[in-house]
Amino acid sequence: MKIKRSLALFLCSILLFTGCSHESRQEVSKTFFAMDTVMNFSVYGDEKILDQTETIISDLESQMSVTDSSSQIAALNKNGSVTLTGDTRTLVQKALSLCERTDGALDLSIYPIVCVWGFTTGKYQVPDDNTISSLLPLVDYKQIQYEPESGEISLPNDMEIDLGSVAKGYAGQKVADYLKENGVTSGLLSLGGNIQAIGNKPDGSPWKIGIQDPRNNEEPMMVLSISDQSVVTSGGYERYFEEDGKTYWHIMDPKTGYPAENGLISVTIVGDDGMLCDGLSTSLFVMGLEKAADFWGKSNDFEAVFVTDDGTVYITEGLKNSFALTDDYQDTVVRVIKR
Ligand code: ADP
Ligand code: MG
Repeated sequence: MKIKRSLALFLCSILLFTGCSHESRQEVSKTFFAMDTVMNFSVYGDEKILDQTETIISDLESQMSVTDSSSQIAALNKNGSVTLTGDTRTLVQKALSLCERTDGALDLSIYPIVCVWGFTTGKYQVPDDNTISSLLPLVDYKQIQYEPESGEISLPNDMEIDLGSVAKGYAGQKVADYLKENGVTSGLLSLGGNIQAIGNKPDGSPWKIGIQDPRNNEEPMMVLSISDQSVVTSGGYERYFEEDGKTYWHIMDPKTGYPAENGLISVTIVGDDGMLCDGLSTSLFVMGLEKAADFWGKSNDFEAVFVTDDGTVYITEGLKNSFALTDDYQDTVVRVIKR
């Protein structure tokens, strides 16, 4: 069995494209580990401005982490019901509506399945079919009862939820909003595969975000020029193990209880809302190219880049002018998805 995490490399690929500035405002940055990933926040401004950001992240983590026994989510999973408050309430509400919007490709109640594959502990295993079919009836966000007026939420017996598919996107957005409220007009936040751009580079040009080749995680295969938006990538290469020559990754198809295998190897979402981008990167990966393209066609709040298992890149129309292949990838076939 082999496991590999490629977040640090991904981070390098981003830094490679951000360049440096000769503007008067200084670049200040901070790197730390939280939410199971390396975070790097880099902004133009005073050193002091970053002080509060790590606290914002650790507050969110302690409210929402499924593994922190004092979190609201752990209490919900243990007791079956709880009254949610603050950011957890906001995020659960937004996430449940995204489960609905994606027709269950995103399903917060996938957690028991994620556990049985060992993705929560690192003790990876391929569960037998009976184990999966006994857990599948518990995977159904429609059985979650949520009262938006009070924040009360309750789960059927044995159902458990987690916010792993959306928490980092929400957290990145919250930090970006905080920094903007405090006068930051230029910065780049990296939370693992989640990038949050604040404004433009200090010279006024867009940020250049490197998107890695999902088949070779040392190489950025394309670059997106982004201003003040989120860019979130979900890929089979982020967390996976191999057994008997087959690769199993951490993005699950809620219909089957197995890793989603619909021909996509990475999905990148670009949009104004970090949480939405995070949730959609996971769920459009589950849908596969055809359904994901239809879903985009009916939406107006995001753009996407898909890489299929034969190495073809599909970009949605709105990214046509902000997309470029890197030098080593000039031969890649790129198709534009139109409305
Ligand atoms: P990462 O957290 O590695 O950046 P994602 O944002 O794609 O990746 O989220 C993957 C995590 O979401 C998994 O580790 C698992 O906890 C959870 N998850 C996996 N499949 C689904 C799904 N179909 N719906 C909701 N959550 C999922
Ligand atoms: Mg996600």
